[in-house]
Amino acid sequence: MTKKIAVIKGDGIGPEITEQAIAVLDRVAEKFGHKFEYSYVLMGGCAIDETGEPLPKETVDICLESDSVLLGAVGGPKWDKGEGSKRPEAGLLGIRKALGLFANLRPARLFAPLKDACPLKDEITKDGLDLIIVRELIGGAYFGERTTVTENGITTANDCMTYSDFEIERIARVAFDLAKKRRGKVTSVDKANVLDTSRLWRKIVHEVAKDYPDTTLGDMLVDNTAMQLVHCPSQFDVIVTENLFGDILSDEASMITGSLGMIPSASLGEGSLGLYEPIHGSAPDIAGKDIANPIATILSAAMMLKYSFDMPREAEAIENAVAQVLEEGYRTADIMSAGCKQVSCSKMGRLITEKI
Ligand code: NAD
Repeated sequence: MTKKIAVIKGDGIGPEITEQAIAVLDRVAEKFGHKFEYSYVLMGGCAIDETGEPLPKETVDICLESDSVLLGAVGGPKWDKGEGSKRPEAGLLGIRKALGLFANLRPARLFAPLKDACPLKDEITKDGLDLIIVRELIGGAYFGERTTVTENGITTANDCMTYSDFEIERIARVAFDLAKKRRGKVTSVDKANVLDTSRLWRKIVHEVAKDYPDTTLGDMLVDNTAMQLVHCPSQFDVIVTENLFGDILSDEASMITGSLGMIPSASLGEGSLGLYEPIHGSAPDIAGKDIANPIATILSAAMMLKYSFDMPREAEAIENAVAQVLEEGYRTADIMSAGCKQVSCSKMGRLITEKI
């Protein structure tokens, strides 16, 4: 198969980590007989420097013409002072919107060799930890109407949380389709005891569930979910939830797997085009030192193969290579522990590539 991949290296450690992910993709192409063609495009601080805009139109056009997008990370102190629409982060929101990416998938998986990095007690994680959070990405409070009004000396701010049935239905379908390929269990998270949007959410998710008879559905209130994630995380397979709840719960779930440098993500829309990126930022404090952990970006590339290109065997080859390298005791500085062998960003990338 030939696939076109738009690559946004971005700022800070972005270029170093994407370089390793591309080396891994090239190895997969060689081994499985595919061809990946890369188009390098600008977004974030580097785009502001070159074009004055965080998301040049050319970048959007090339991403839309591609089969998928791989992103390193954007941002850094150099661009922190600009107005909102001229900051690197505006590029991130802009590209999600331009590509119609409404579903964010964030897996939280504990690799056995890294279990010491997990802040939970061994007895809590003894049954493993392998869940995925499906977060609605372009609706709810983050995209609702907002106002700040001062009247009679009192200032009132208002963020409107809105959801329509079709927005809930399409994200629910993403979750159920995913569960079919995993352990067949969906937990829908809401606050239906208080919020109208949550009551609509619950109703629509249950309607969608009728089309997936082999999948089990459970409802859980968001406050309970926050507790259950640290009390008994192995009970979860696929968690589906709205934007604001998903933002918070996915950070909590990431934390219990140990390191930011390990966690990939995928943002998907209606078609197969997706945006794949590590969950961490551009880490300006370690940029250019060849010490960043490239694994989150490499695992993001694996998600791209699985979800955009329907290449599950190839994705598994990457995941297994990462697991083996960790098993053999190789670690970047952020996940280093006693008795292990510390390696650079580029060496970690090479070790993983060699295992495929
Ligand atoms: P960050 O995730 O960049 O860094 C937080 C800490 O984790 C730092 O100490 C960093 O060195 C470390 N870290 C992050 N990724 C690592 C990796 N792969 N290997 C080893 N260590 C790693 O978060 P921050 O410092 O809050 O943000 C830095 C910049 O990144 C800001 O400009 C922020 O706006 C931007 N940001 C971008 C994205 C994105 O592009 N999706 C996401 C979050 C933050």
